[in-house]
Amino acid sequence: MNIENMQDLFVEQIQDLYDAEQRLTKALPEMAEAAASSELRRAFEEHHGETQGHVSRLERIFEGMGLSPKATTCDAMKGLIKEGETIVSDIKQSALRDAGLIAAANRVEHYEIAAYGSAKTFARNLGMERAVMMLEETLEEEKNADQKLTQLAESMINSEALQTQLR
Ligand code: FE
Ligand code: FE
Ligand code: ZN
Repeated sequence: MNIENMQDLFVEQIQDLYDAEQRLTKALPEMAEAAASSELRRAFEEHHGETQGHVSRLERIFEGMGLSPKATTCDAMKGLIKEGETIVSDIKQSALRDAGLIAAANRVEHYEIAAYGSAKTFARNLGMERAVMMLEETLEEEKNADQKLTQLAESMINSEALQTQLR
């Protein structure tokens, strides 16, 4: 793809996000299944639901531009998901594995936060106010997911279960 102006760049960014979000809709149920803590499992399930919404918002943005939704491989998300899978298979102790899962998921959320922040700026620059609003909604959900995971990590790391397992 030849990127020659801001609109091309914006389209490239949302094509990457479209791929990233679709990969996540497949990965999150597996992460939920791998989680030992029911709270963590619920957090992954909840964000899975939100992620399906992220996919459809991107579709509406494509359609609003008169384009059919297209995904271009997001190598970063591919790699982040792979790291998560490696963590799960490398850690046998359940509380420790949960901590590893959260570390992997926080990386995912930070990637998305960065990507939606840029996409929103580009959309604003292009005068696409509806797209700005949709990107903002998704961005807020990514930030909330990130914070929730961080809170879970903090409460788990201080939990007795983990302390006993690690001794
Ligand atoms: Fe997302
Ligand atoms: Fe990417
Ligand atoms: Zn997310």
